[in-house]
Parts: sequence; structure tokens; C-alpha cells
Amino acid sequence: MMNARYVISNMLERAGINAAVLAARRHSLMVLCYHRVLDAADPARPLTHPALISSTRIFERQMEVLASLLTPVTLTDAVRWLDGHADIPRRAALVTFDDGWIDTCTNAFPVMKRLGIPGVVFLATGLIGTNDRQWADTVYESIAARAGPQAATRELERLKRLPSPARSEDIVSRSAHSPNLTWPQVEEMARDGFEFGSHTSTHMILPRESEEDITRELRLSATQIEARLGSVPMAFAYPDGQYDRRVARLVEQAGHSCAFACNEGLATLRSDRFALPRLCVHDGVSAAPRGGFSRAMFLTYLAGTIPWRYRRRVR
Ligand SMILES: [Zn+2]
Repeated sequence: MMNARYVISNMLERAGINAAVLAARRHSLMVLCYHRVLDAADPARPLTHPALISSTRIFERQMEVLASLLTPVTLTDAVRWLDGHADIPRRAALVTFDDGWIDTCTNAFPVMKRLGIPGVVFLATGLIGTNDRQWADTVYESIAARAGPQAATRELERLKRLPSPARSEDIVSRSAHSPNLTWPQVEEMARDGFEFGSHTSTHMILPRESEEDITRELRLSATQIEARLGSVPMAFAYPDGQYDRRVARLVEQAGHSCAFACNEGLATLRSDRFALPRLCVHDGVSAAPRGGFSRAMFLTYLAGTIPWRYRRRVR
């Protein structure tokens, strides 16, 4: 299957179809969603779900493609456009990161700074500056280590369907080396033009939680961001990409201007601004058959010229 994608992507690429599709884009915004950007030898790799990993080397190639063929914009640009105050450039693209992993600063940020690409990070603010880990990571890592990645994925999907009180609290664990950003790193990136949105405080998956708990998480996260960065977050990203009408309404009532989901597609002025689509990116979307980066596959994914669906996994 991967070979078929590879072959077709190269045909589309040679025919110039991907470039033509991307070049024709206007009045729309493509939003990319990344999680971890890890070096080849990073010890976190074997115990992290593959669909959350972009290799630093491949991420760099992807950003080079973005800088050369598309028009990277800021979150502020996007919100001004959604508000009707400005147009969005042709071929607009917004690069986002979820959660607040330390590698967003150590690996992704230097690449983007070099290329002049702005970014947005959606912070699970309660984890920032701590050694705490998301419960989902702890579960995945412990099960993957003893029973393999497929068993870990199955158990995680089961647990995610439960409201948080039904999950044991003690699966929240601390690690010796923090996997999370620190607030000084957040402030450093903010000084260089990165923008920060909210992703709750504890990375709570919202649809099955009470209105009171959701509101508390949203308020806490916004307060922490305001205290550190001087302004409340403009935008929100749903943990695990999960939302419903009630959750979206509460996110709007909490004062956000827009919210991002992980539904594939392009944002337009007709999109629901509290369910803006994003394309999830990891090594798999641009992996050549023998590993490494395939520019043709990456452009085919961005252009959407093959209607394939990658198995997505979001946090
Ligand atoms: Zn997340």
C-alpha cells in the first residue's frame, strides 16, 4: 500500500499536479498539526506512538518545502481573516504543535526560526514546567514495553472513552527528565514570534466531562497563559481532537476566538470556527518505502490529490 502511494505520488509530482493544486489555493488556510519532533537516537522514540513522531531531519525537509511553496502565516493573521478584518495570502499555511513538548523548543523551533516560519503551540498548561506526564503517555509506554504497540494502542483507545474519574489517578506519573516545555522556553519562543494557545490544563479529553470540570480546565489554562505571557489565549485546540457542540460552546464562552480540531480539510470562511480542520503530520505522511523523506508524498498529502486516509492519532 505504501508503495502504491509512493508510486502514485511520484507520478502526480512529475506531472506537476501537486504544485498546481497548491499554487491555486486562495481564500483558504491549511493548518498543520505536529506533536513530537525527535532526533533519531532520542530514547523517547520507542515508547512513543509512531503517529505522534516527526523526525527532526524530516521535519526540517517538510519546513523547507513549506517555506518554498506555501505562505506561512501567524495565528493572528488567521484570526484577523476569520474576523473579516483582512484577507489571507494565497497558499496560506499555519504550523501548530499540540501539548507543549520540550522538543517543540529544542528541535522544531530552531528550524522554523532559521526559515522564518511562525508557529503556534497549544499548551496543556498544567504540565508546563513540571516533570508530570500525560496519563495517556504513561499508559502507552508501560503497555508497549511489556505487550507491544498494538496492545498499548487498544488499551489507550478503551481508556479514552471513559470519563476521567473512571480512570485510575495513579497512572499520572513523573519522569526523571521532563518531557515538557518550561515556562522560560515558552517565553523565549514568544519573544521570537511564536504564539500560544490553550489545550486545557491537564490535557483533559472534554466530551465526557462535566460542564463544571470543563469550565475549570479552560479557565485555569487561560489564567496560566495570561500570567506568563500577558494576554489570554486567542485559540484553543481540543485534546485528542475530541469535541462536541456542548464542548465547542463552552470553549467559545471561555473567550477564545476559534478552536482547532483534527478533521482533515482546509479552513475557509465557511468553516465552523470552533472546529477548524487540521492536517496531522508525522513521519508516515512523507515516508519513502525505505524510510527517509519523500517530497512527492509530502506534497501529495498537503495537496490532497490522493484521497487516502492515514491512520491518525492525535493528542
Ligand atoms: Zn494534545
